[in-house]
Amino acid sequence: MARVSYPYPYEAKVSQTLFDRASLVTPGGVNSPVRAFRAVGGTPRFMVSGTGPYLTDADGREYVDLVCSWGPMILGHAHPAVVEAIQAAVARGTSFGTPGEGEVALAEEITARIEPVEQVRLVSSGTEATMSAIRLARGFTGRSKVVKFAGCYHGHVDALLAAAGSGLATFALPDTPGVTGAQAGDTIVLPYNDLEAVRAAFAAHPGEIACVITEAAPGNMGVVTPAEGFNQGLADLCRDNGALYISDEVMTGFRTSRAGWYGVDGVRPDLMTFGKVMGGGFPAAAFGGRADVMAHLAPAGPVYQAGTLSGNPVATAAGLAQLRLLDDAAYAAVDAVSERIQGLVTDALANEGVAHRVQTASNMFSVFFTADPVRNYDEAKQQESFRFNAFFHSMLSQGVYLPPSAFESWFVSTAHDDAAVERIAAALPAAARAAAQATPEASA
Ligand code: PLP
Repeated sequence: MARVSYPYPYEAKVSQTLFDRASLVTPGGVNSPVRAFRAVGGTPRFMVSGTGPYLTDADGREYVDLVCSWGPMILGHAHPAVVEAIQAAVARGTSFGTPGEGEVALAEEITARIEPVEQVRLVSSGTEATMSAIRLARGFTGRSKVVKFAGCYHGHVDALLAAAGSGLATFALPDTPGVTGAQAGDTIVLPYNDLEAVRAAFAAHPGEIACVITEAAPGNMGVVTPAEGFNQGLADLCRDNGALYISDEVMTGFRTSRAGWYGVDGVRPDLMTFGKVMGGGFPAAAFGGRADVMAHLAPAGPVYQAGTLSGNPVATAAGLAQLRLLDDAAYAAVDAVSERIQGLVTDALANEGVAHRVQTASNMFSVFFTADPVRNYDEAKQQESFRFNAFFHSMLSQGVYLPPSAFESWFVSTAHDDAAVERIAAALPAAARAAAQATPEASA
């Protein structure tokens, strides 16, 4: 894709210099692809600090942050109580390679909040959590095949980096070089929100499907809310066919409610995966669920899984401090500010006559530049993403940091106060105008 140059009067000289340096020593200049701004063009901002709802970049510009580290920073940046817990933990030593009380406390907090999680294993990233949950599902069922949905992202697990071929229940083709046909060959990719396709896959492969994995409420194709009865239908089909239902709550977990999306729809999975919020900004993640399934995990059972830094004392202290602050009032505050911002975005775009839809999964939301409902990945791709790109750059130039892609959720925090919301409100009219005036050619 050609790089876009935007006519906005702002520069990011220090960020550009850092990006040039980074590009010499790191592929594409970043350590995770979306950070490179490839979808929207321009210079990725190198951030140097964060406080509450704000980030400050290397050029000294301040932004209202609507990414929140892609979800984890639900209390805002550098929350004093979380920082204090981290500093105290660091002072006690940073890694022991032994069990510690912090891990027990974090596991207790997770199991107390989410009733279907009877036992939990801590890991260091969401990718590790989903990879391990799938291995466990295969080990437990003695089956090979995995069903996933197009547009759902579960980390860069080989077997899950696969896109559908044509037709409903085709076997996956690898999505990236480096994933072999064999690694993707046991993955069945189906359209999201299509229970019939799942039913057909079970009928076509009796006794072969180990698990169905789904984002509890997808945020990785933009926010696409599960249709009424979809998650329950998946749970029922899995139960009826001897497969496990894995609900990936890495993004929604401890964000969309105290008990994540499970707290919203109450559908009981066999296994669940978590990350982001539970790490308080540190690398901590987890998978857990039915005790009889988790009992198959080493050293209790034969399915191997391990990690040098799993349950790291600093990460667990950060996660625990953050979770303990996340009471009902905190969720009510995040939900309320999310709704306010959604309303402001809707009003601004409507004023300029820009076709759009704001889709939500409680306080997670995204803006699709289309008039039509978005129920799956194919529909998400129909939107006019060139309008998002113009909108994004206008907001950035006015000090509001949005996710640099039209296919991502926006995230807010308890720290997004009136002042932050007013800054967003002030930036929106010009951004909506930029979206209205955008043409496909300008971002081609
Ligand atoms: N699952 C979901 C739903 C995610 O959104 C992500 C990351 O965005 C992952 C898994 C992977 O997590 P991580 O990036 O920590 O490996």
